[in-house]
Amino acid sequence: MSRAFNFSAGPATLPESVLVQVREELLEWQGERASVMEVSHRGKAFIDCAAQAEADLRHLLGVTDEYAVLFLQGGATTVSALLPMNLARADQAGEYLLTGHWGEKALENAKASLATHVVASDKINAYRNIPEASAWQRAGNAAYFHYTSNETIHGVEFADIPDSGDVPLVADFSSNFLARPVDVSRFGMIYAGAQKNLGPAGITIAVIRRDLLGRHGRDLPPIFEWQNQVKNDSMFNTPPTFPWYVVGLVLKWMIAEGGTEAFARRNAEKAALLYKTIDGSGGFYRNEVAVSARSTMNVPFMLKDEALDKAFLKESESAGLMGLKGHRALGGMRASIYNAMPVAGVRALADFMNDFAVRHG
Ligand SMILES: *Cc1c(COP(=O)(O)O)cnc(C)c1O
Repeated sequence: MSRAFNFSAGPATLPESVLVQVREELLEWQGERASVMEVSHRGKAFIDCAAQAEADLRHLLGVTDEYAVLFLQGGATTVSALLPMNLARADQAGEYLLTGHWGEKALENAKASLATHVVASDKINAYRNIPEASAWQRAGNAAYFHYTSNETIHGVEFADIPDSGDVPLVADFSSNFLARPVDVSRFGMIYAGAQKNLGPAGITIAVIRRDLLGRHGRDLPPIFEWQNQVKNDSMFNTPPTFPWYVVGLVLKWMIAEGGTEAFARRNAEKAALLYKTIDGSGGFYRNEVAVSARSTMNVPFMLKDEALDKAFLKESESAGLMGLKGHRALGGMRASIYNAMPVAGVRALADFMNDFAVRHG
């Protein structure tokens, strides 16, 4: 076995114990004499498994019955395209606060079905900070206020929940979902693709305040109407059963590890170690995000000389550290240090970075 510490941004590393359990249960699951992939989503075994995952998610995140929890297909991208249709009337607007690539994408996806309004954007600053609330320009007739809690590519994360006043807050938490405790009651909706912090690709979680649904007055194809998914426990059509099952195992693992508070402590420790390594490198490495907006999940960093990138990637792979190549939009490196990345992995990365800087500095 030569599993590396995997810093990939997504699909991303999963807890090894979960993978071991998947392997053990792969051929025969829960006495079903078949794999979880091969049984009906309408059967009792899968319905129990699905309901348990929802209950565990509600427990971990502190979600009350005021909110529906959906397990959807199509990724966070599809959810970002469907949310304007489901949450807003055609004569309303959607407000967007932009702090990076994924906020821009969500905005683009909303335009076909809604008037959109950019509240503020840090694009002119290459997305290195969060625009001050004092500079926001509000829409006036907004059905919701959308932001990206953690920008996976730019490495910009909100430490606090922005204040949208009376307008329901909608947040893309794809890359920091369950990374720390969150006051769900502050939100109209939270959504997250699983493949960053929660499980394999193919399933997306949406937590939606029930009273916001069914007020759009639009004629939607039934499969796009989230009320139908709520009424059918996310089984209006065949759900992604295998990813749902794996997400359930990750949630059980999270509970056993101490829940979101334990992960918040661990994630803060990992991020502090990595930023200390970058900031203490005498300029060999740099991260240009404002300190207060730095992500605890995705840490982009540049080497002082781009010509060293290749050697950094090659040598880090040899050292058992994979997935460090930065997103093509930014270049350089990026270390994604999600819940399933152990502290030992970040220590190994920091040791490697220090050693590399000495050898190539
Ligand atoms: C990865 C990511 C997405 C896109 O997710 P898909 O599942 O590929 O649609 C959207 N938002 C954020 C913050 C992401 O990290």
